[in-house]
Amino acid sequence: MDKNAMITIAGRPNVGKSTLTNALVGEKVAIVSNKPQTTRNRITAIINCGEAQLVLMDTPGFHRARTRLGEYMDKVVRESVADAVVLVVEPIASLGPQETELIKQLRAARVPAILAINKIDTVEKPELLSVISAYAQAHDFAAVVPISAKRGEGLEALLGEMEKFAQPGPHLFPEDMYTDQPEKQ
Ligand code: GDP
Ligand code: MG
Repeated sequence: MDKNAMITIAGRPNVGKSTLTNALVGEKVAIVSNKPQTTRNRITAIINCGEAQLVLMDTPGFHRARTRLGEYMDKVVRESVADAVVLVVEPIASLGPQETELIKQLRAARVPAILAINKIDTVEKPELLSVISAYAQAHDFAAVVPISAKRGEGLEALLGEMEKFAQPGPHLFPEDMYTDQPEKQ
């Protein structure tokens, strides 16, 4: 049975979102799309994972509503397009203001979130454990997956967690679509 999931990759600049998207695309036959922009959710990649097609989007709605348009967009996000969000963070054992704000917005949007702790190649295990515990206290994540987007570590586990959010439904893009156009860093 075909399934699909719309997944938003969120996180502050420089945590490795583009590197992760490219690494996931490298892992599976997939496309980095030619960026259709029909909504505020920019599609960055389509990943075909067995029965499931994962549509990855970059950080959309997690903006504060400051204007009427902003409020409207905020509502669109709340009501929402994403089946799950992958929150990408650095392996730092205290949350920055941007992480705290993103978590607040995840909660408001009531969207399930997977925590991807990236750049684990730069820390030792005890440090990683304190990062996990800091984030576990901050939010009830559906899963916590340590990864190194750069070294390709933990990506299968992360794909597995994303796949759990796939709902029965048609594949939205042809499976043989392919481009080697990398996501802009
Ligand atoms: P974005 O702004 O979230 O899209 O982040 P980028 O993907 O552009 O990455 C920001 C920087 O972090 C780049 O210099 C990447 O090479 C680096 N980076 C990304 N993933 C890893 C990783 O797993 N380990 C290390 N050491 N560096 C990484
Ligand atoms: Mg980027």
